[in-house]
Amino acid sequence: MTKNISDFIKKLCCFVCTLLCIFCIIPFAACEKDIKEPDTTYSIWLDIREDKIYCTQSVSFVNKSEYILDNLVFNVYANAYDSSKPLPCTSQEEQDAYPNGVSFGKFELDNVYGDFKSYNFDSDKNLITIMLDKDLLPNQSTKIEFVYTLVPPNTNLRYGYNDICLSLTGFYPQLCALVDGEWFSREFSPIGDPYFSDTADYEVCFNLPDECQYVCSGLSDTEEKQGETFVYTKASDIRDFAIIISPVLDKTMTIHNGVEISYLGKSSEVVEYAKKALDTYSEIFGEYAYDSLALANIPFLAGGMEYGALCVLNDQLTGIDTESVTAHEVAHEWWYSALGSNNLIDAWQDEGLAEYSTYLYFEKNGRKDVADLLLNDAYVQYGNFKELGIKVGEPVTGMLAGELNSFASNYHYTNLTYNKAFILWDYASNCMGKDNLLKALRYYYLSNKFAIATPDDLYNALDNTKAGTSSILKSWINNC
Ligand SMILES: [Zn+2]
Repeated sequence: MTKNISDFIKKLCCFVCTLLCIFCIIPFAACEKDIKEPDTTYSIWLDIREDKIYCTQSVSFVNKSEYILDNLVFNVYANAYDSSKPLPCTSQEEQDAYPNGVSFGKFELDNVYGDFKSYNFDSDKNLITIMLDKDLLPNQSTKIEFVYTLVPPNTNLRYGYNDICLSLTGFYPQLCALVDGEWFSREFSPIGDPYFSDTADYEVCFNLPDECQYVCSGLSDTEEKQGETFVYTKASDIRDFAIIISPVLDKTMTIHNGVEISYLGKSSEVVEYAKKALDTYSEIFGEYAYDSLALANIPFLAGGMEYGALCVLNDQLTGIDTESVTAHEVAHEWWYSALGSNNLIDAWQDEGLAEYSTYLYFEKNGRKDVADLLLNDAYVQYGNFKELGIKVGEPVTGMLAGELNSFASNYHYTNLTYNKAFILWDYASNCMGKDNLLKALRYYYLSNKFAIATPDDLYNALDNTKAGTSSILKSWINNC
């Protein structure tokens, strides 16, 4: 049954006019206490109302690059859900993505403040370009403030609401990643993960609607003000910031080796899997980068999705799939959030390692049988994919890298970015020895933490451990 306004959104209506009054009373500095600003910092206020979310966002950008910048470019992922755009999913996914019928979101840019000459919101490209009033030299900083309004779509995609939750991911204008002095962006792709950014610090305040629970990136506190609940949260060095709010799911909290784990959902075993994953990857690759980890089991199109210190897991997962997807998504906190890579053109870099990490997770935790099953499955699927390519006269080139939109389908994307990139690490293990491989991956992680690693950084880490390894792997990639 299609609903104009879902029950959930109705429950979000705890905020009426009084919210604005409260915001006037609570000084904005409440979000900023005890904060020094060594890094780019996003300060976001969300006023969640019945059918809209009113946002104020300031971004203190620190130019940590060696380049002189005359502009800033922000990606507005939420604008990809606009009715003027192609749907942000493939046609095969449409029914599952929109079980209540196709729904659109709206991003309205109300105002921009700061020291700039001009700004332009290119809705077609989902980009806001700010032309600065003077060049920004290395180590200089500038502050831009946005005022915008969101109407989330009704969907099971990354951003939007459904009967179970409100997923606020990719909801805010986020600086594009700075690559060799240029702001890197691509057209929003329904295939693969569209997000690509540098790490930053976050201070986010939002009102928690009545009867709702939440998880979000970072450590948070709640405060009652005039009968309303406000959440204040801070996170450092994360790739992006996410919030999941639900009127029906229960929340649990636990501390594990100094990491606060919050969980929203009905599969409590997920927390145990996450603890094992944190321990396993911390031991193999290097210490977990954050002081918190949030997990949420919610309706979702894919198996799961990673964000900064937050993992979304599909609530339909059962059995070993629940553990496998949890292990995969938690691995992304190493291979996505802490150590970034350009997943718009080299998605294999983090996805392959997340798959291989999942293999190591099962192997290290007494389930070698499951580890082998996953690996064998990757070999079989990739083999079938190659055979099919030959049959239809389109032999697989085998290249791992590629623009997301250049993949012919999710089938191609999955087989190359996940299966082949997973097999790659099994091949590397056979070539250089498992101990050497793990040593190289640890070096790769520790030497690129909080940066964006290129494929060459990965190859250098391998060669640094065992000379000549990368040329063997490159040859394998090109010929298999
Ligand atoms: Zn993944």
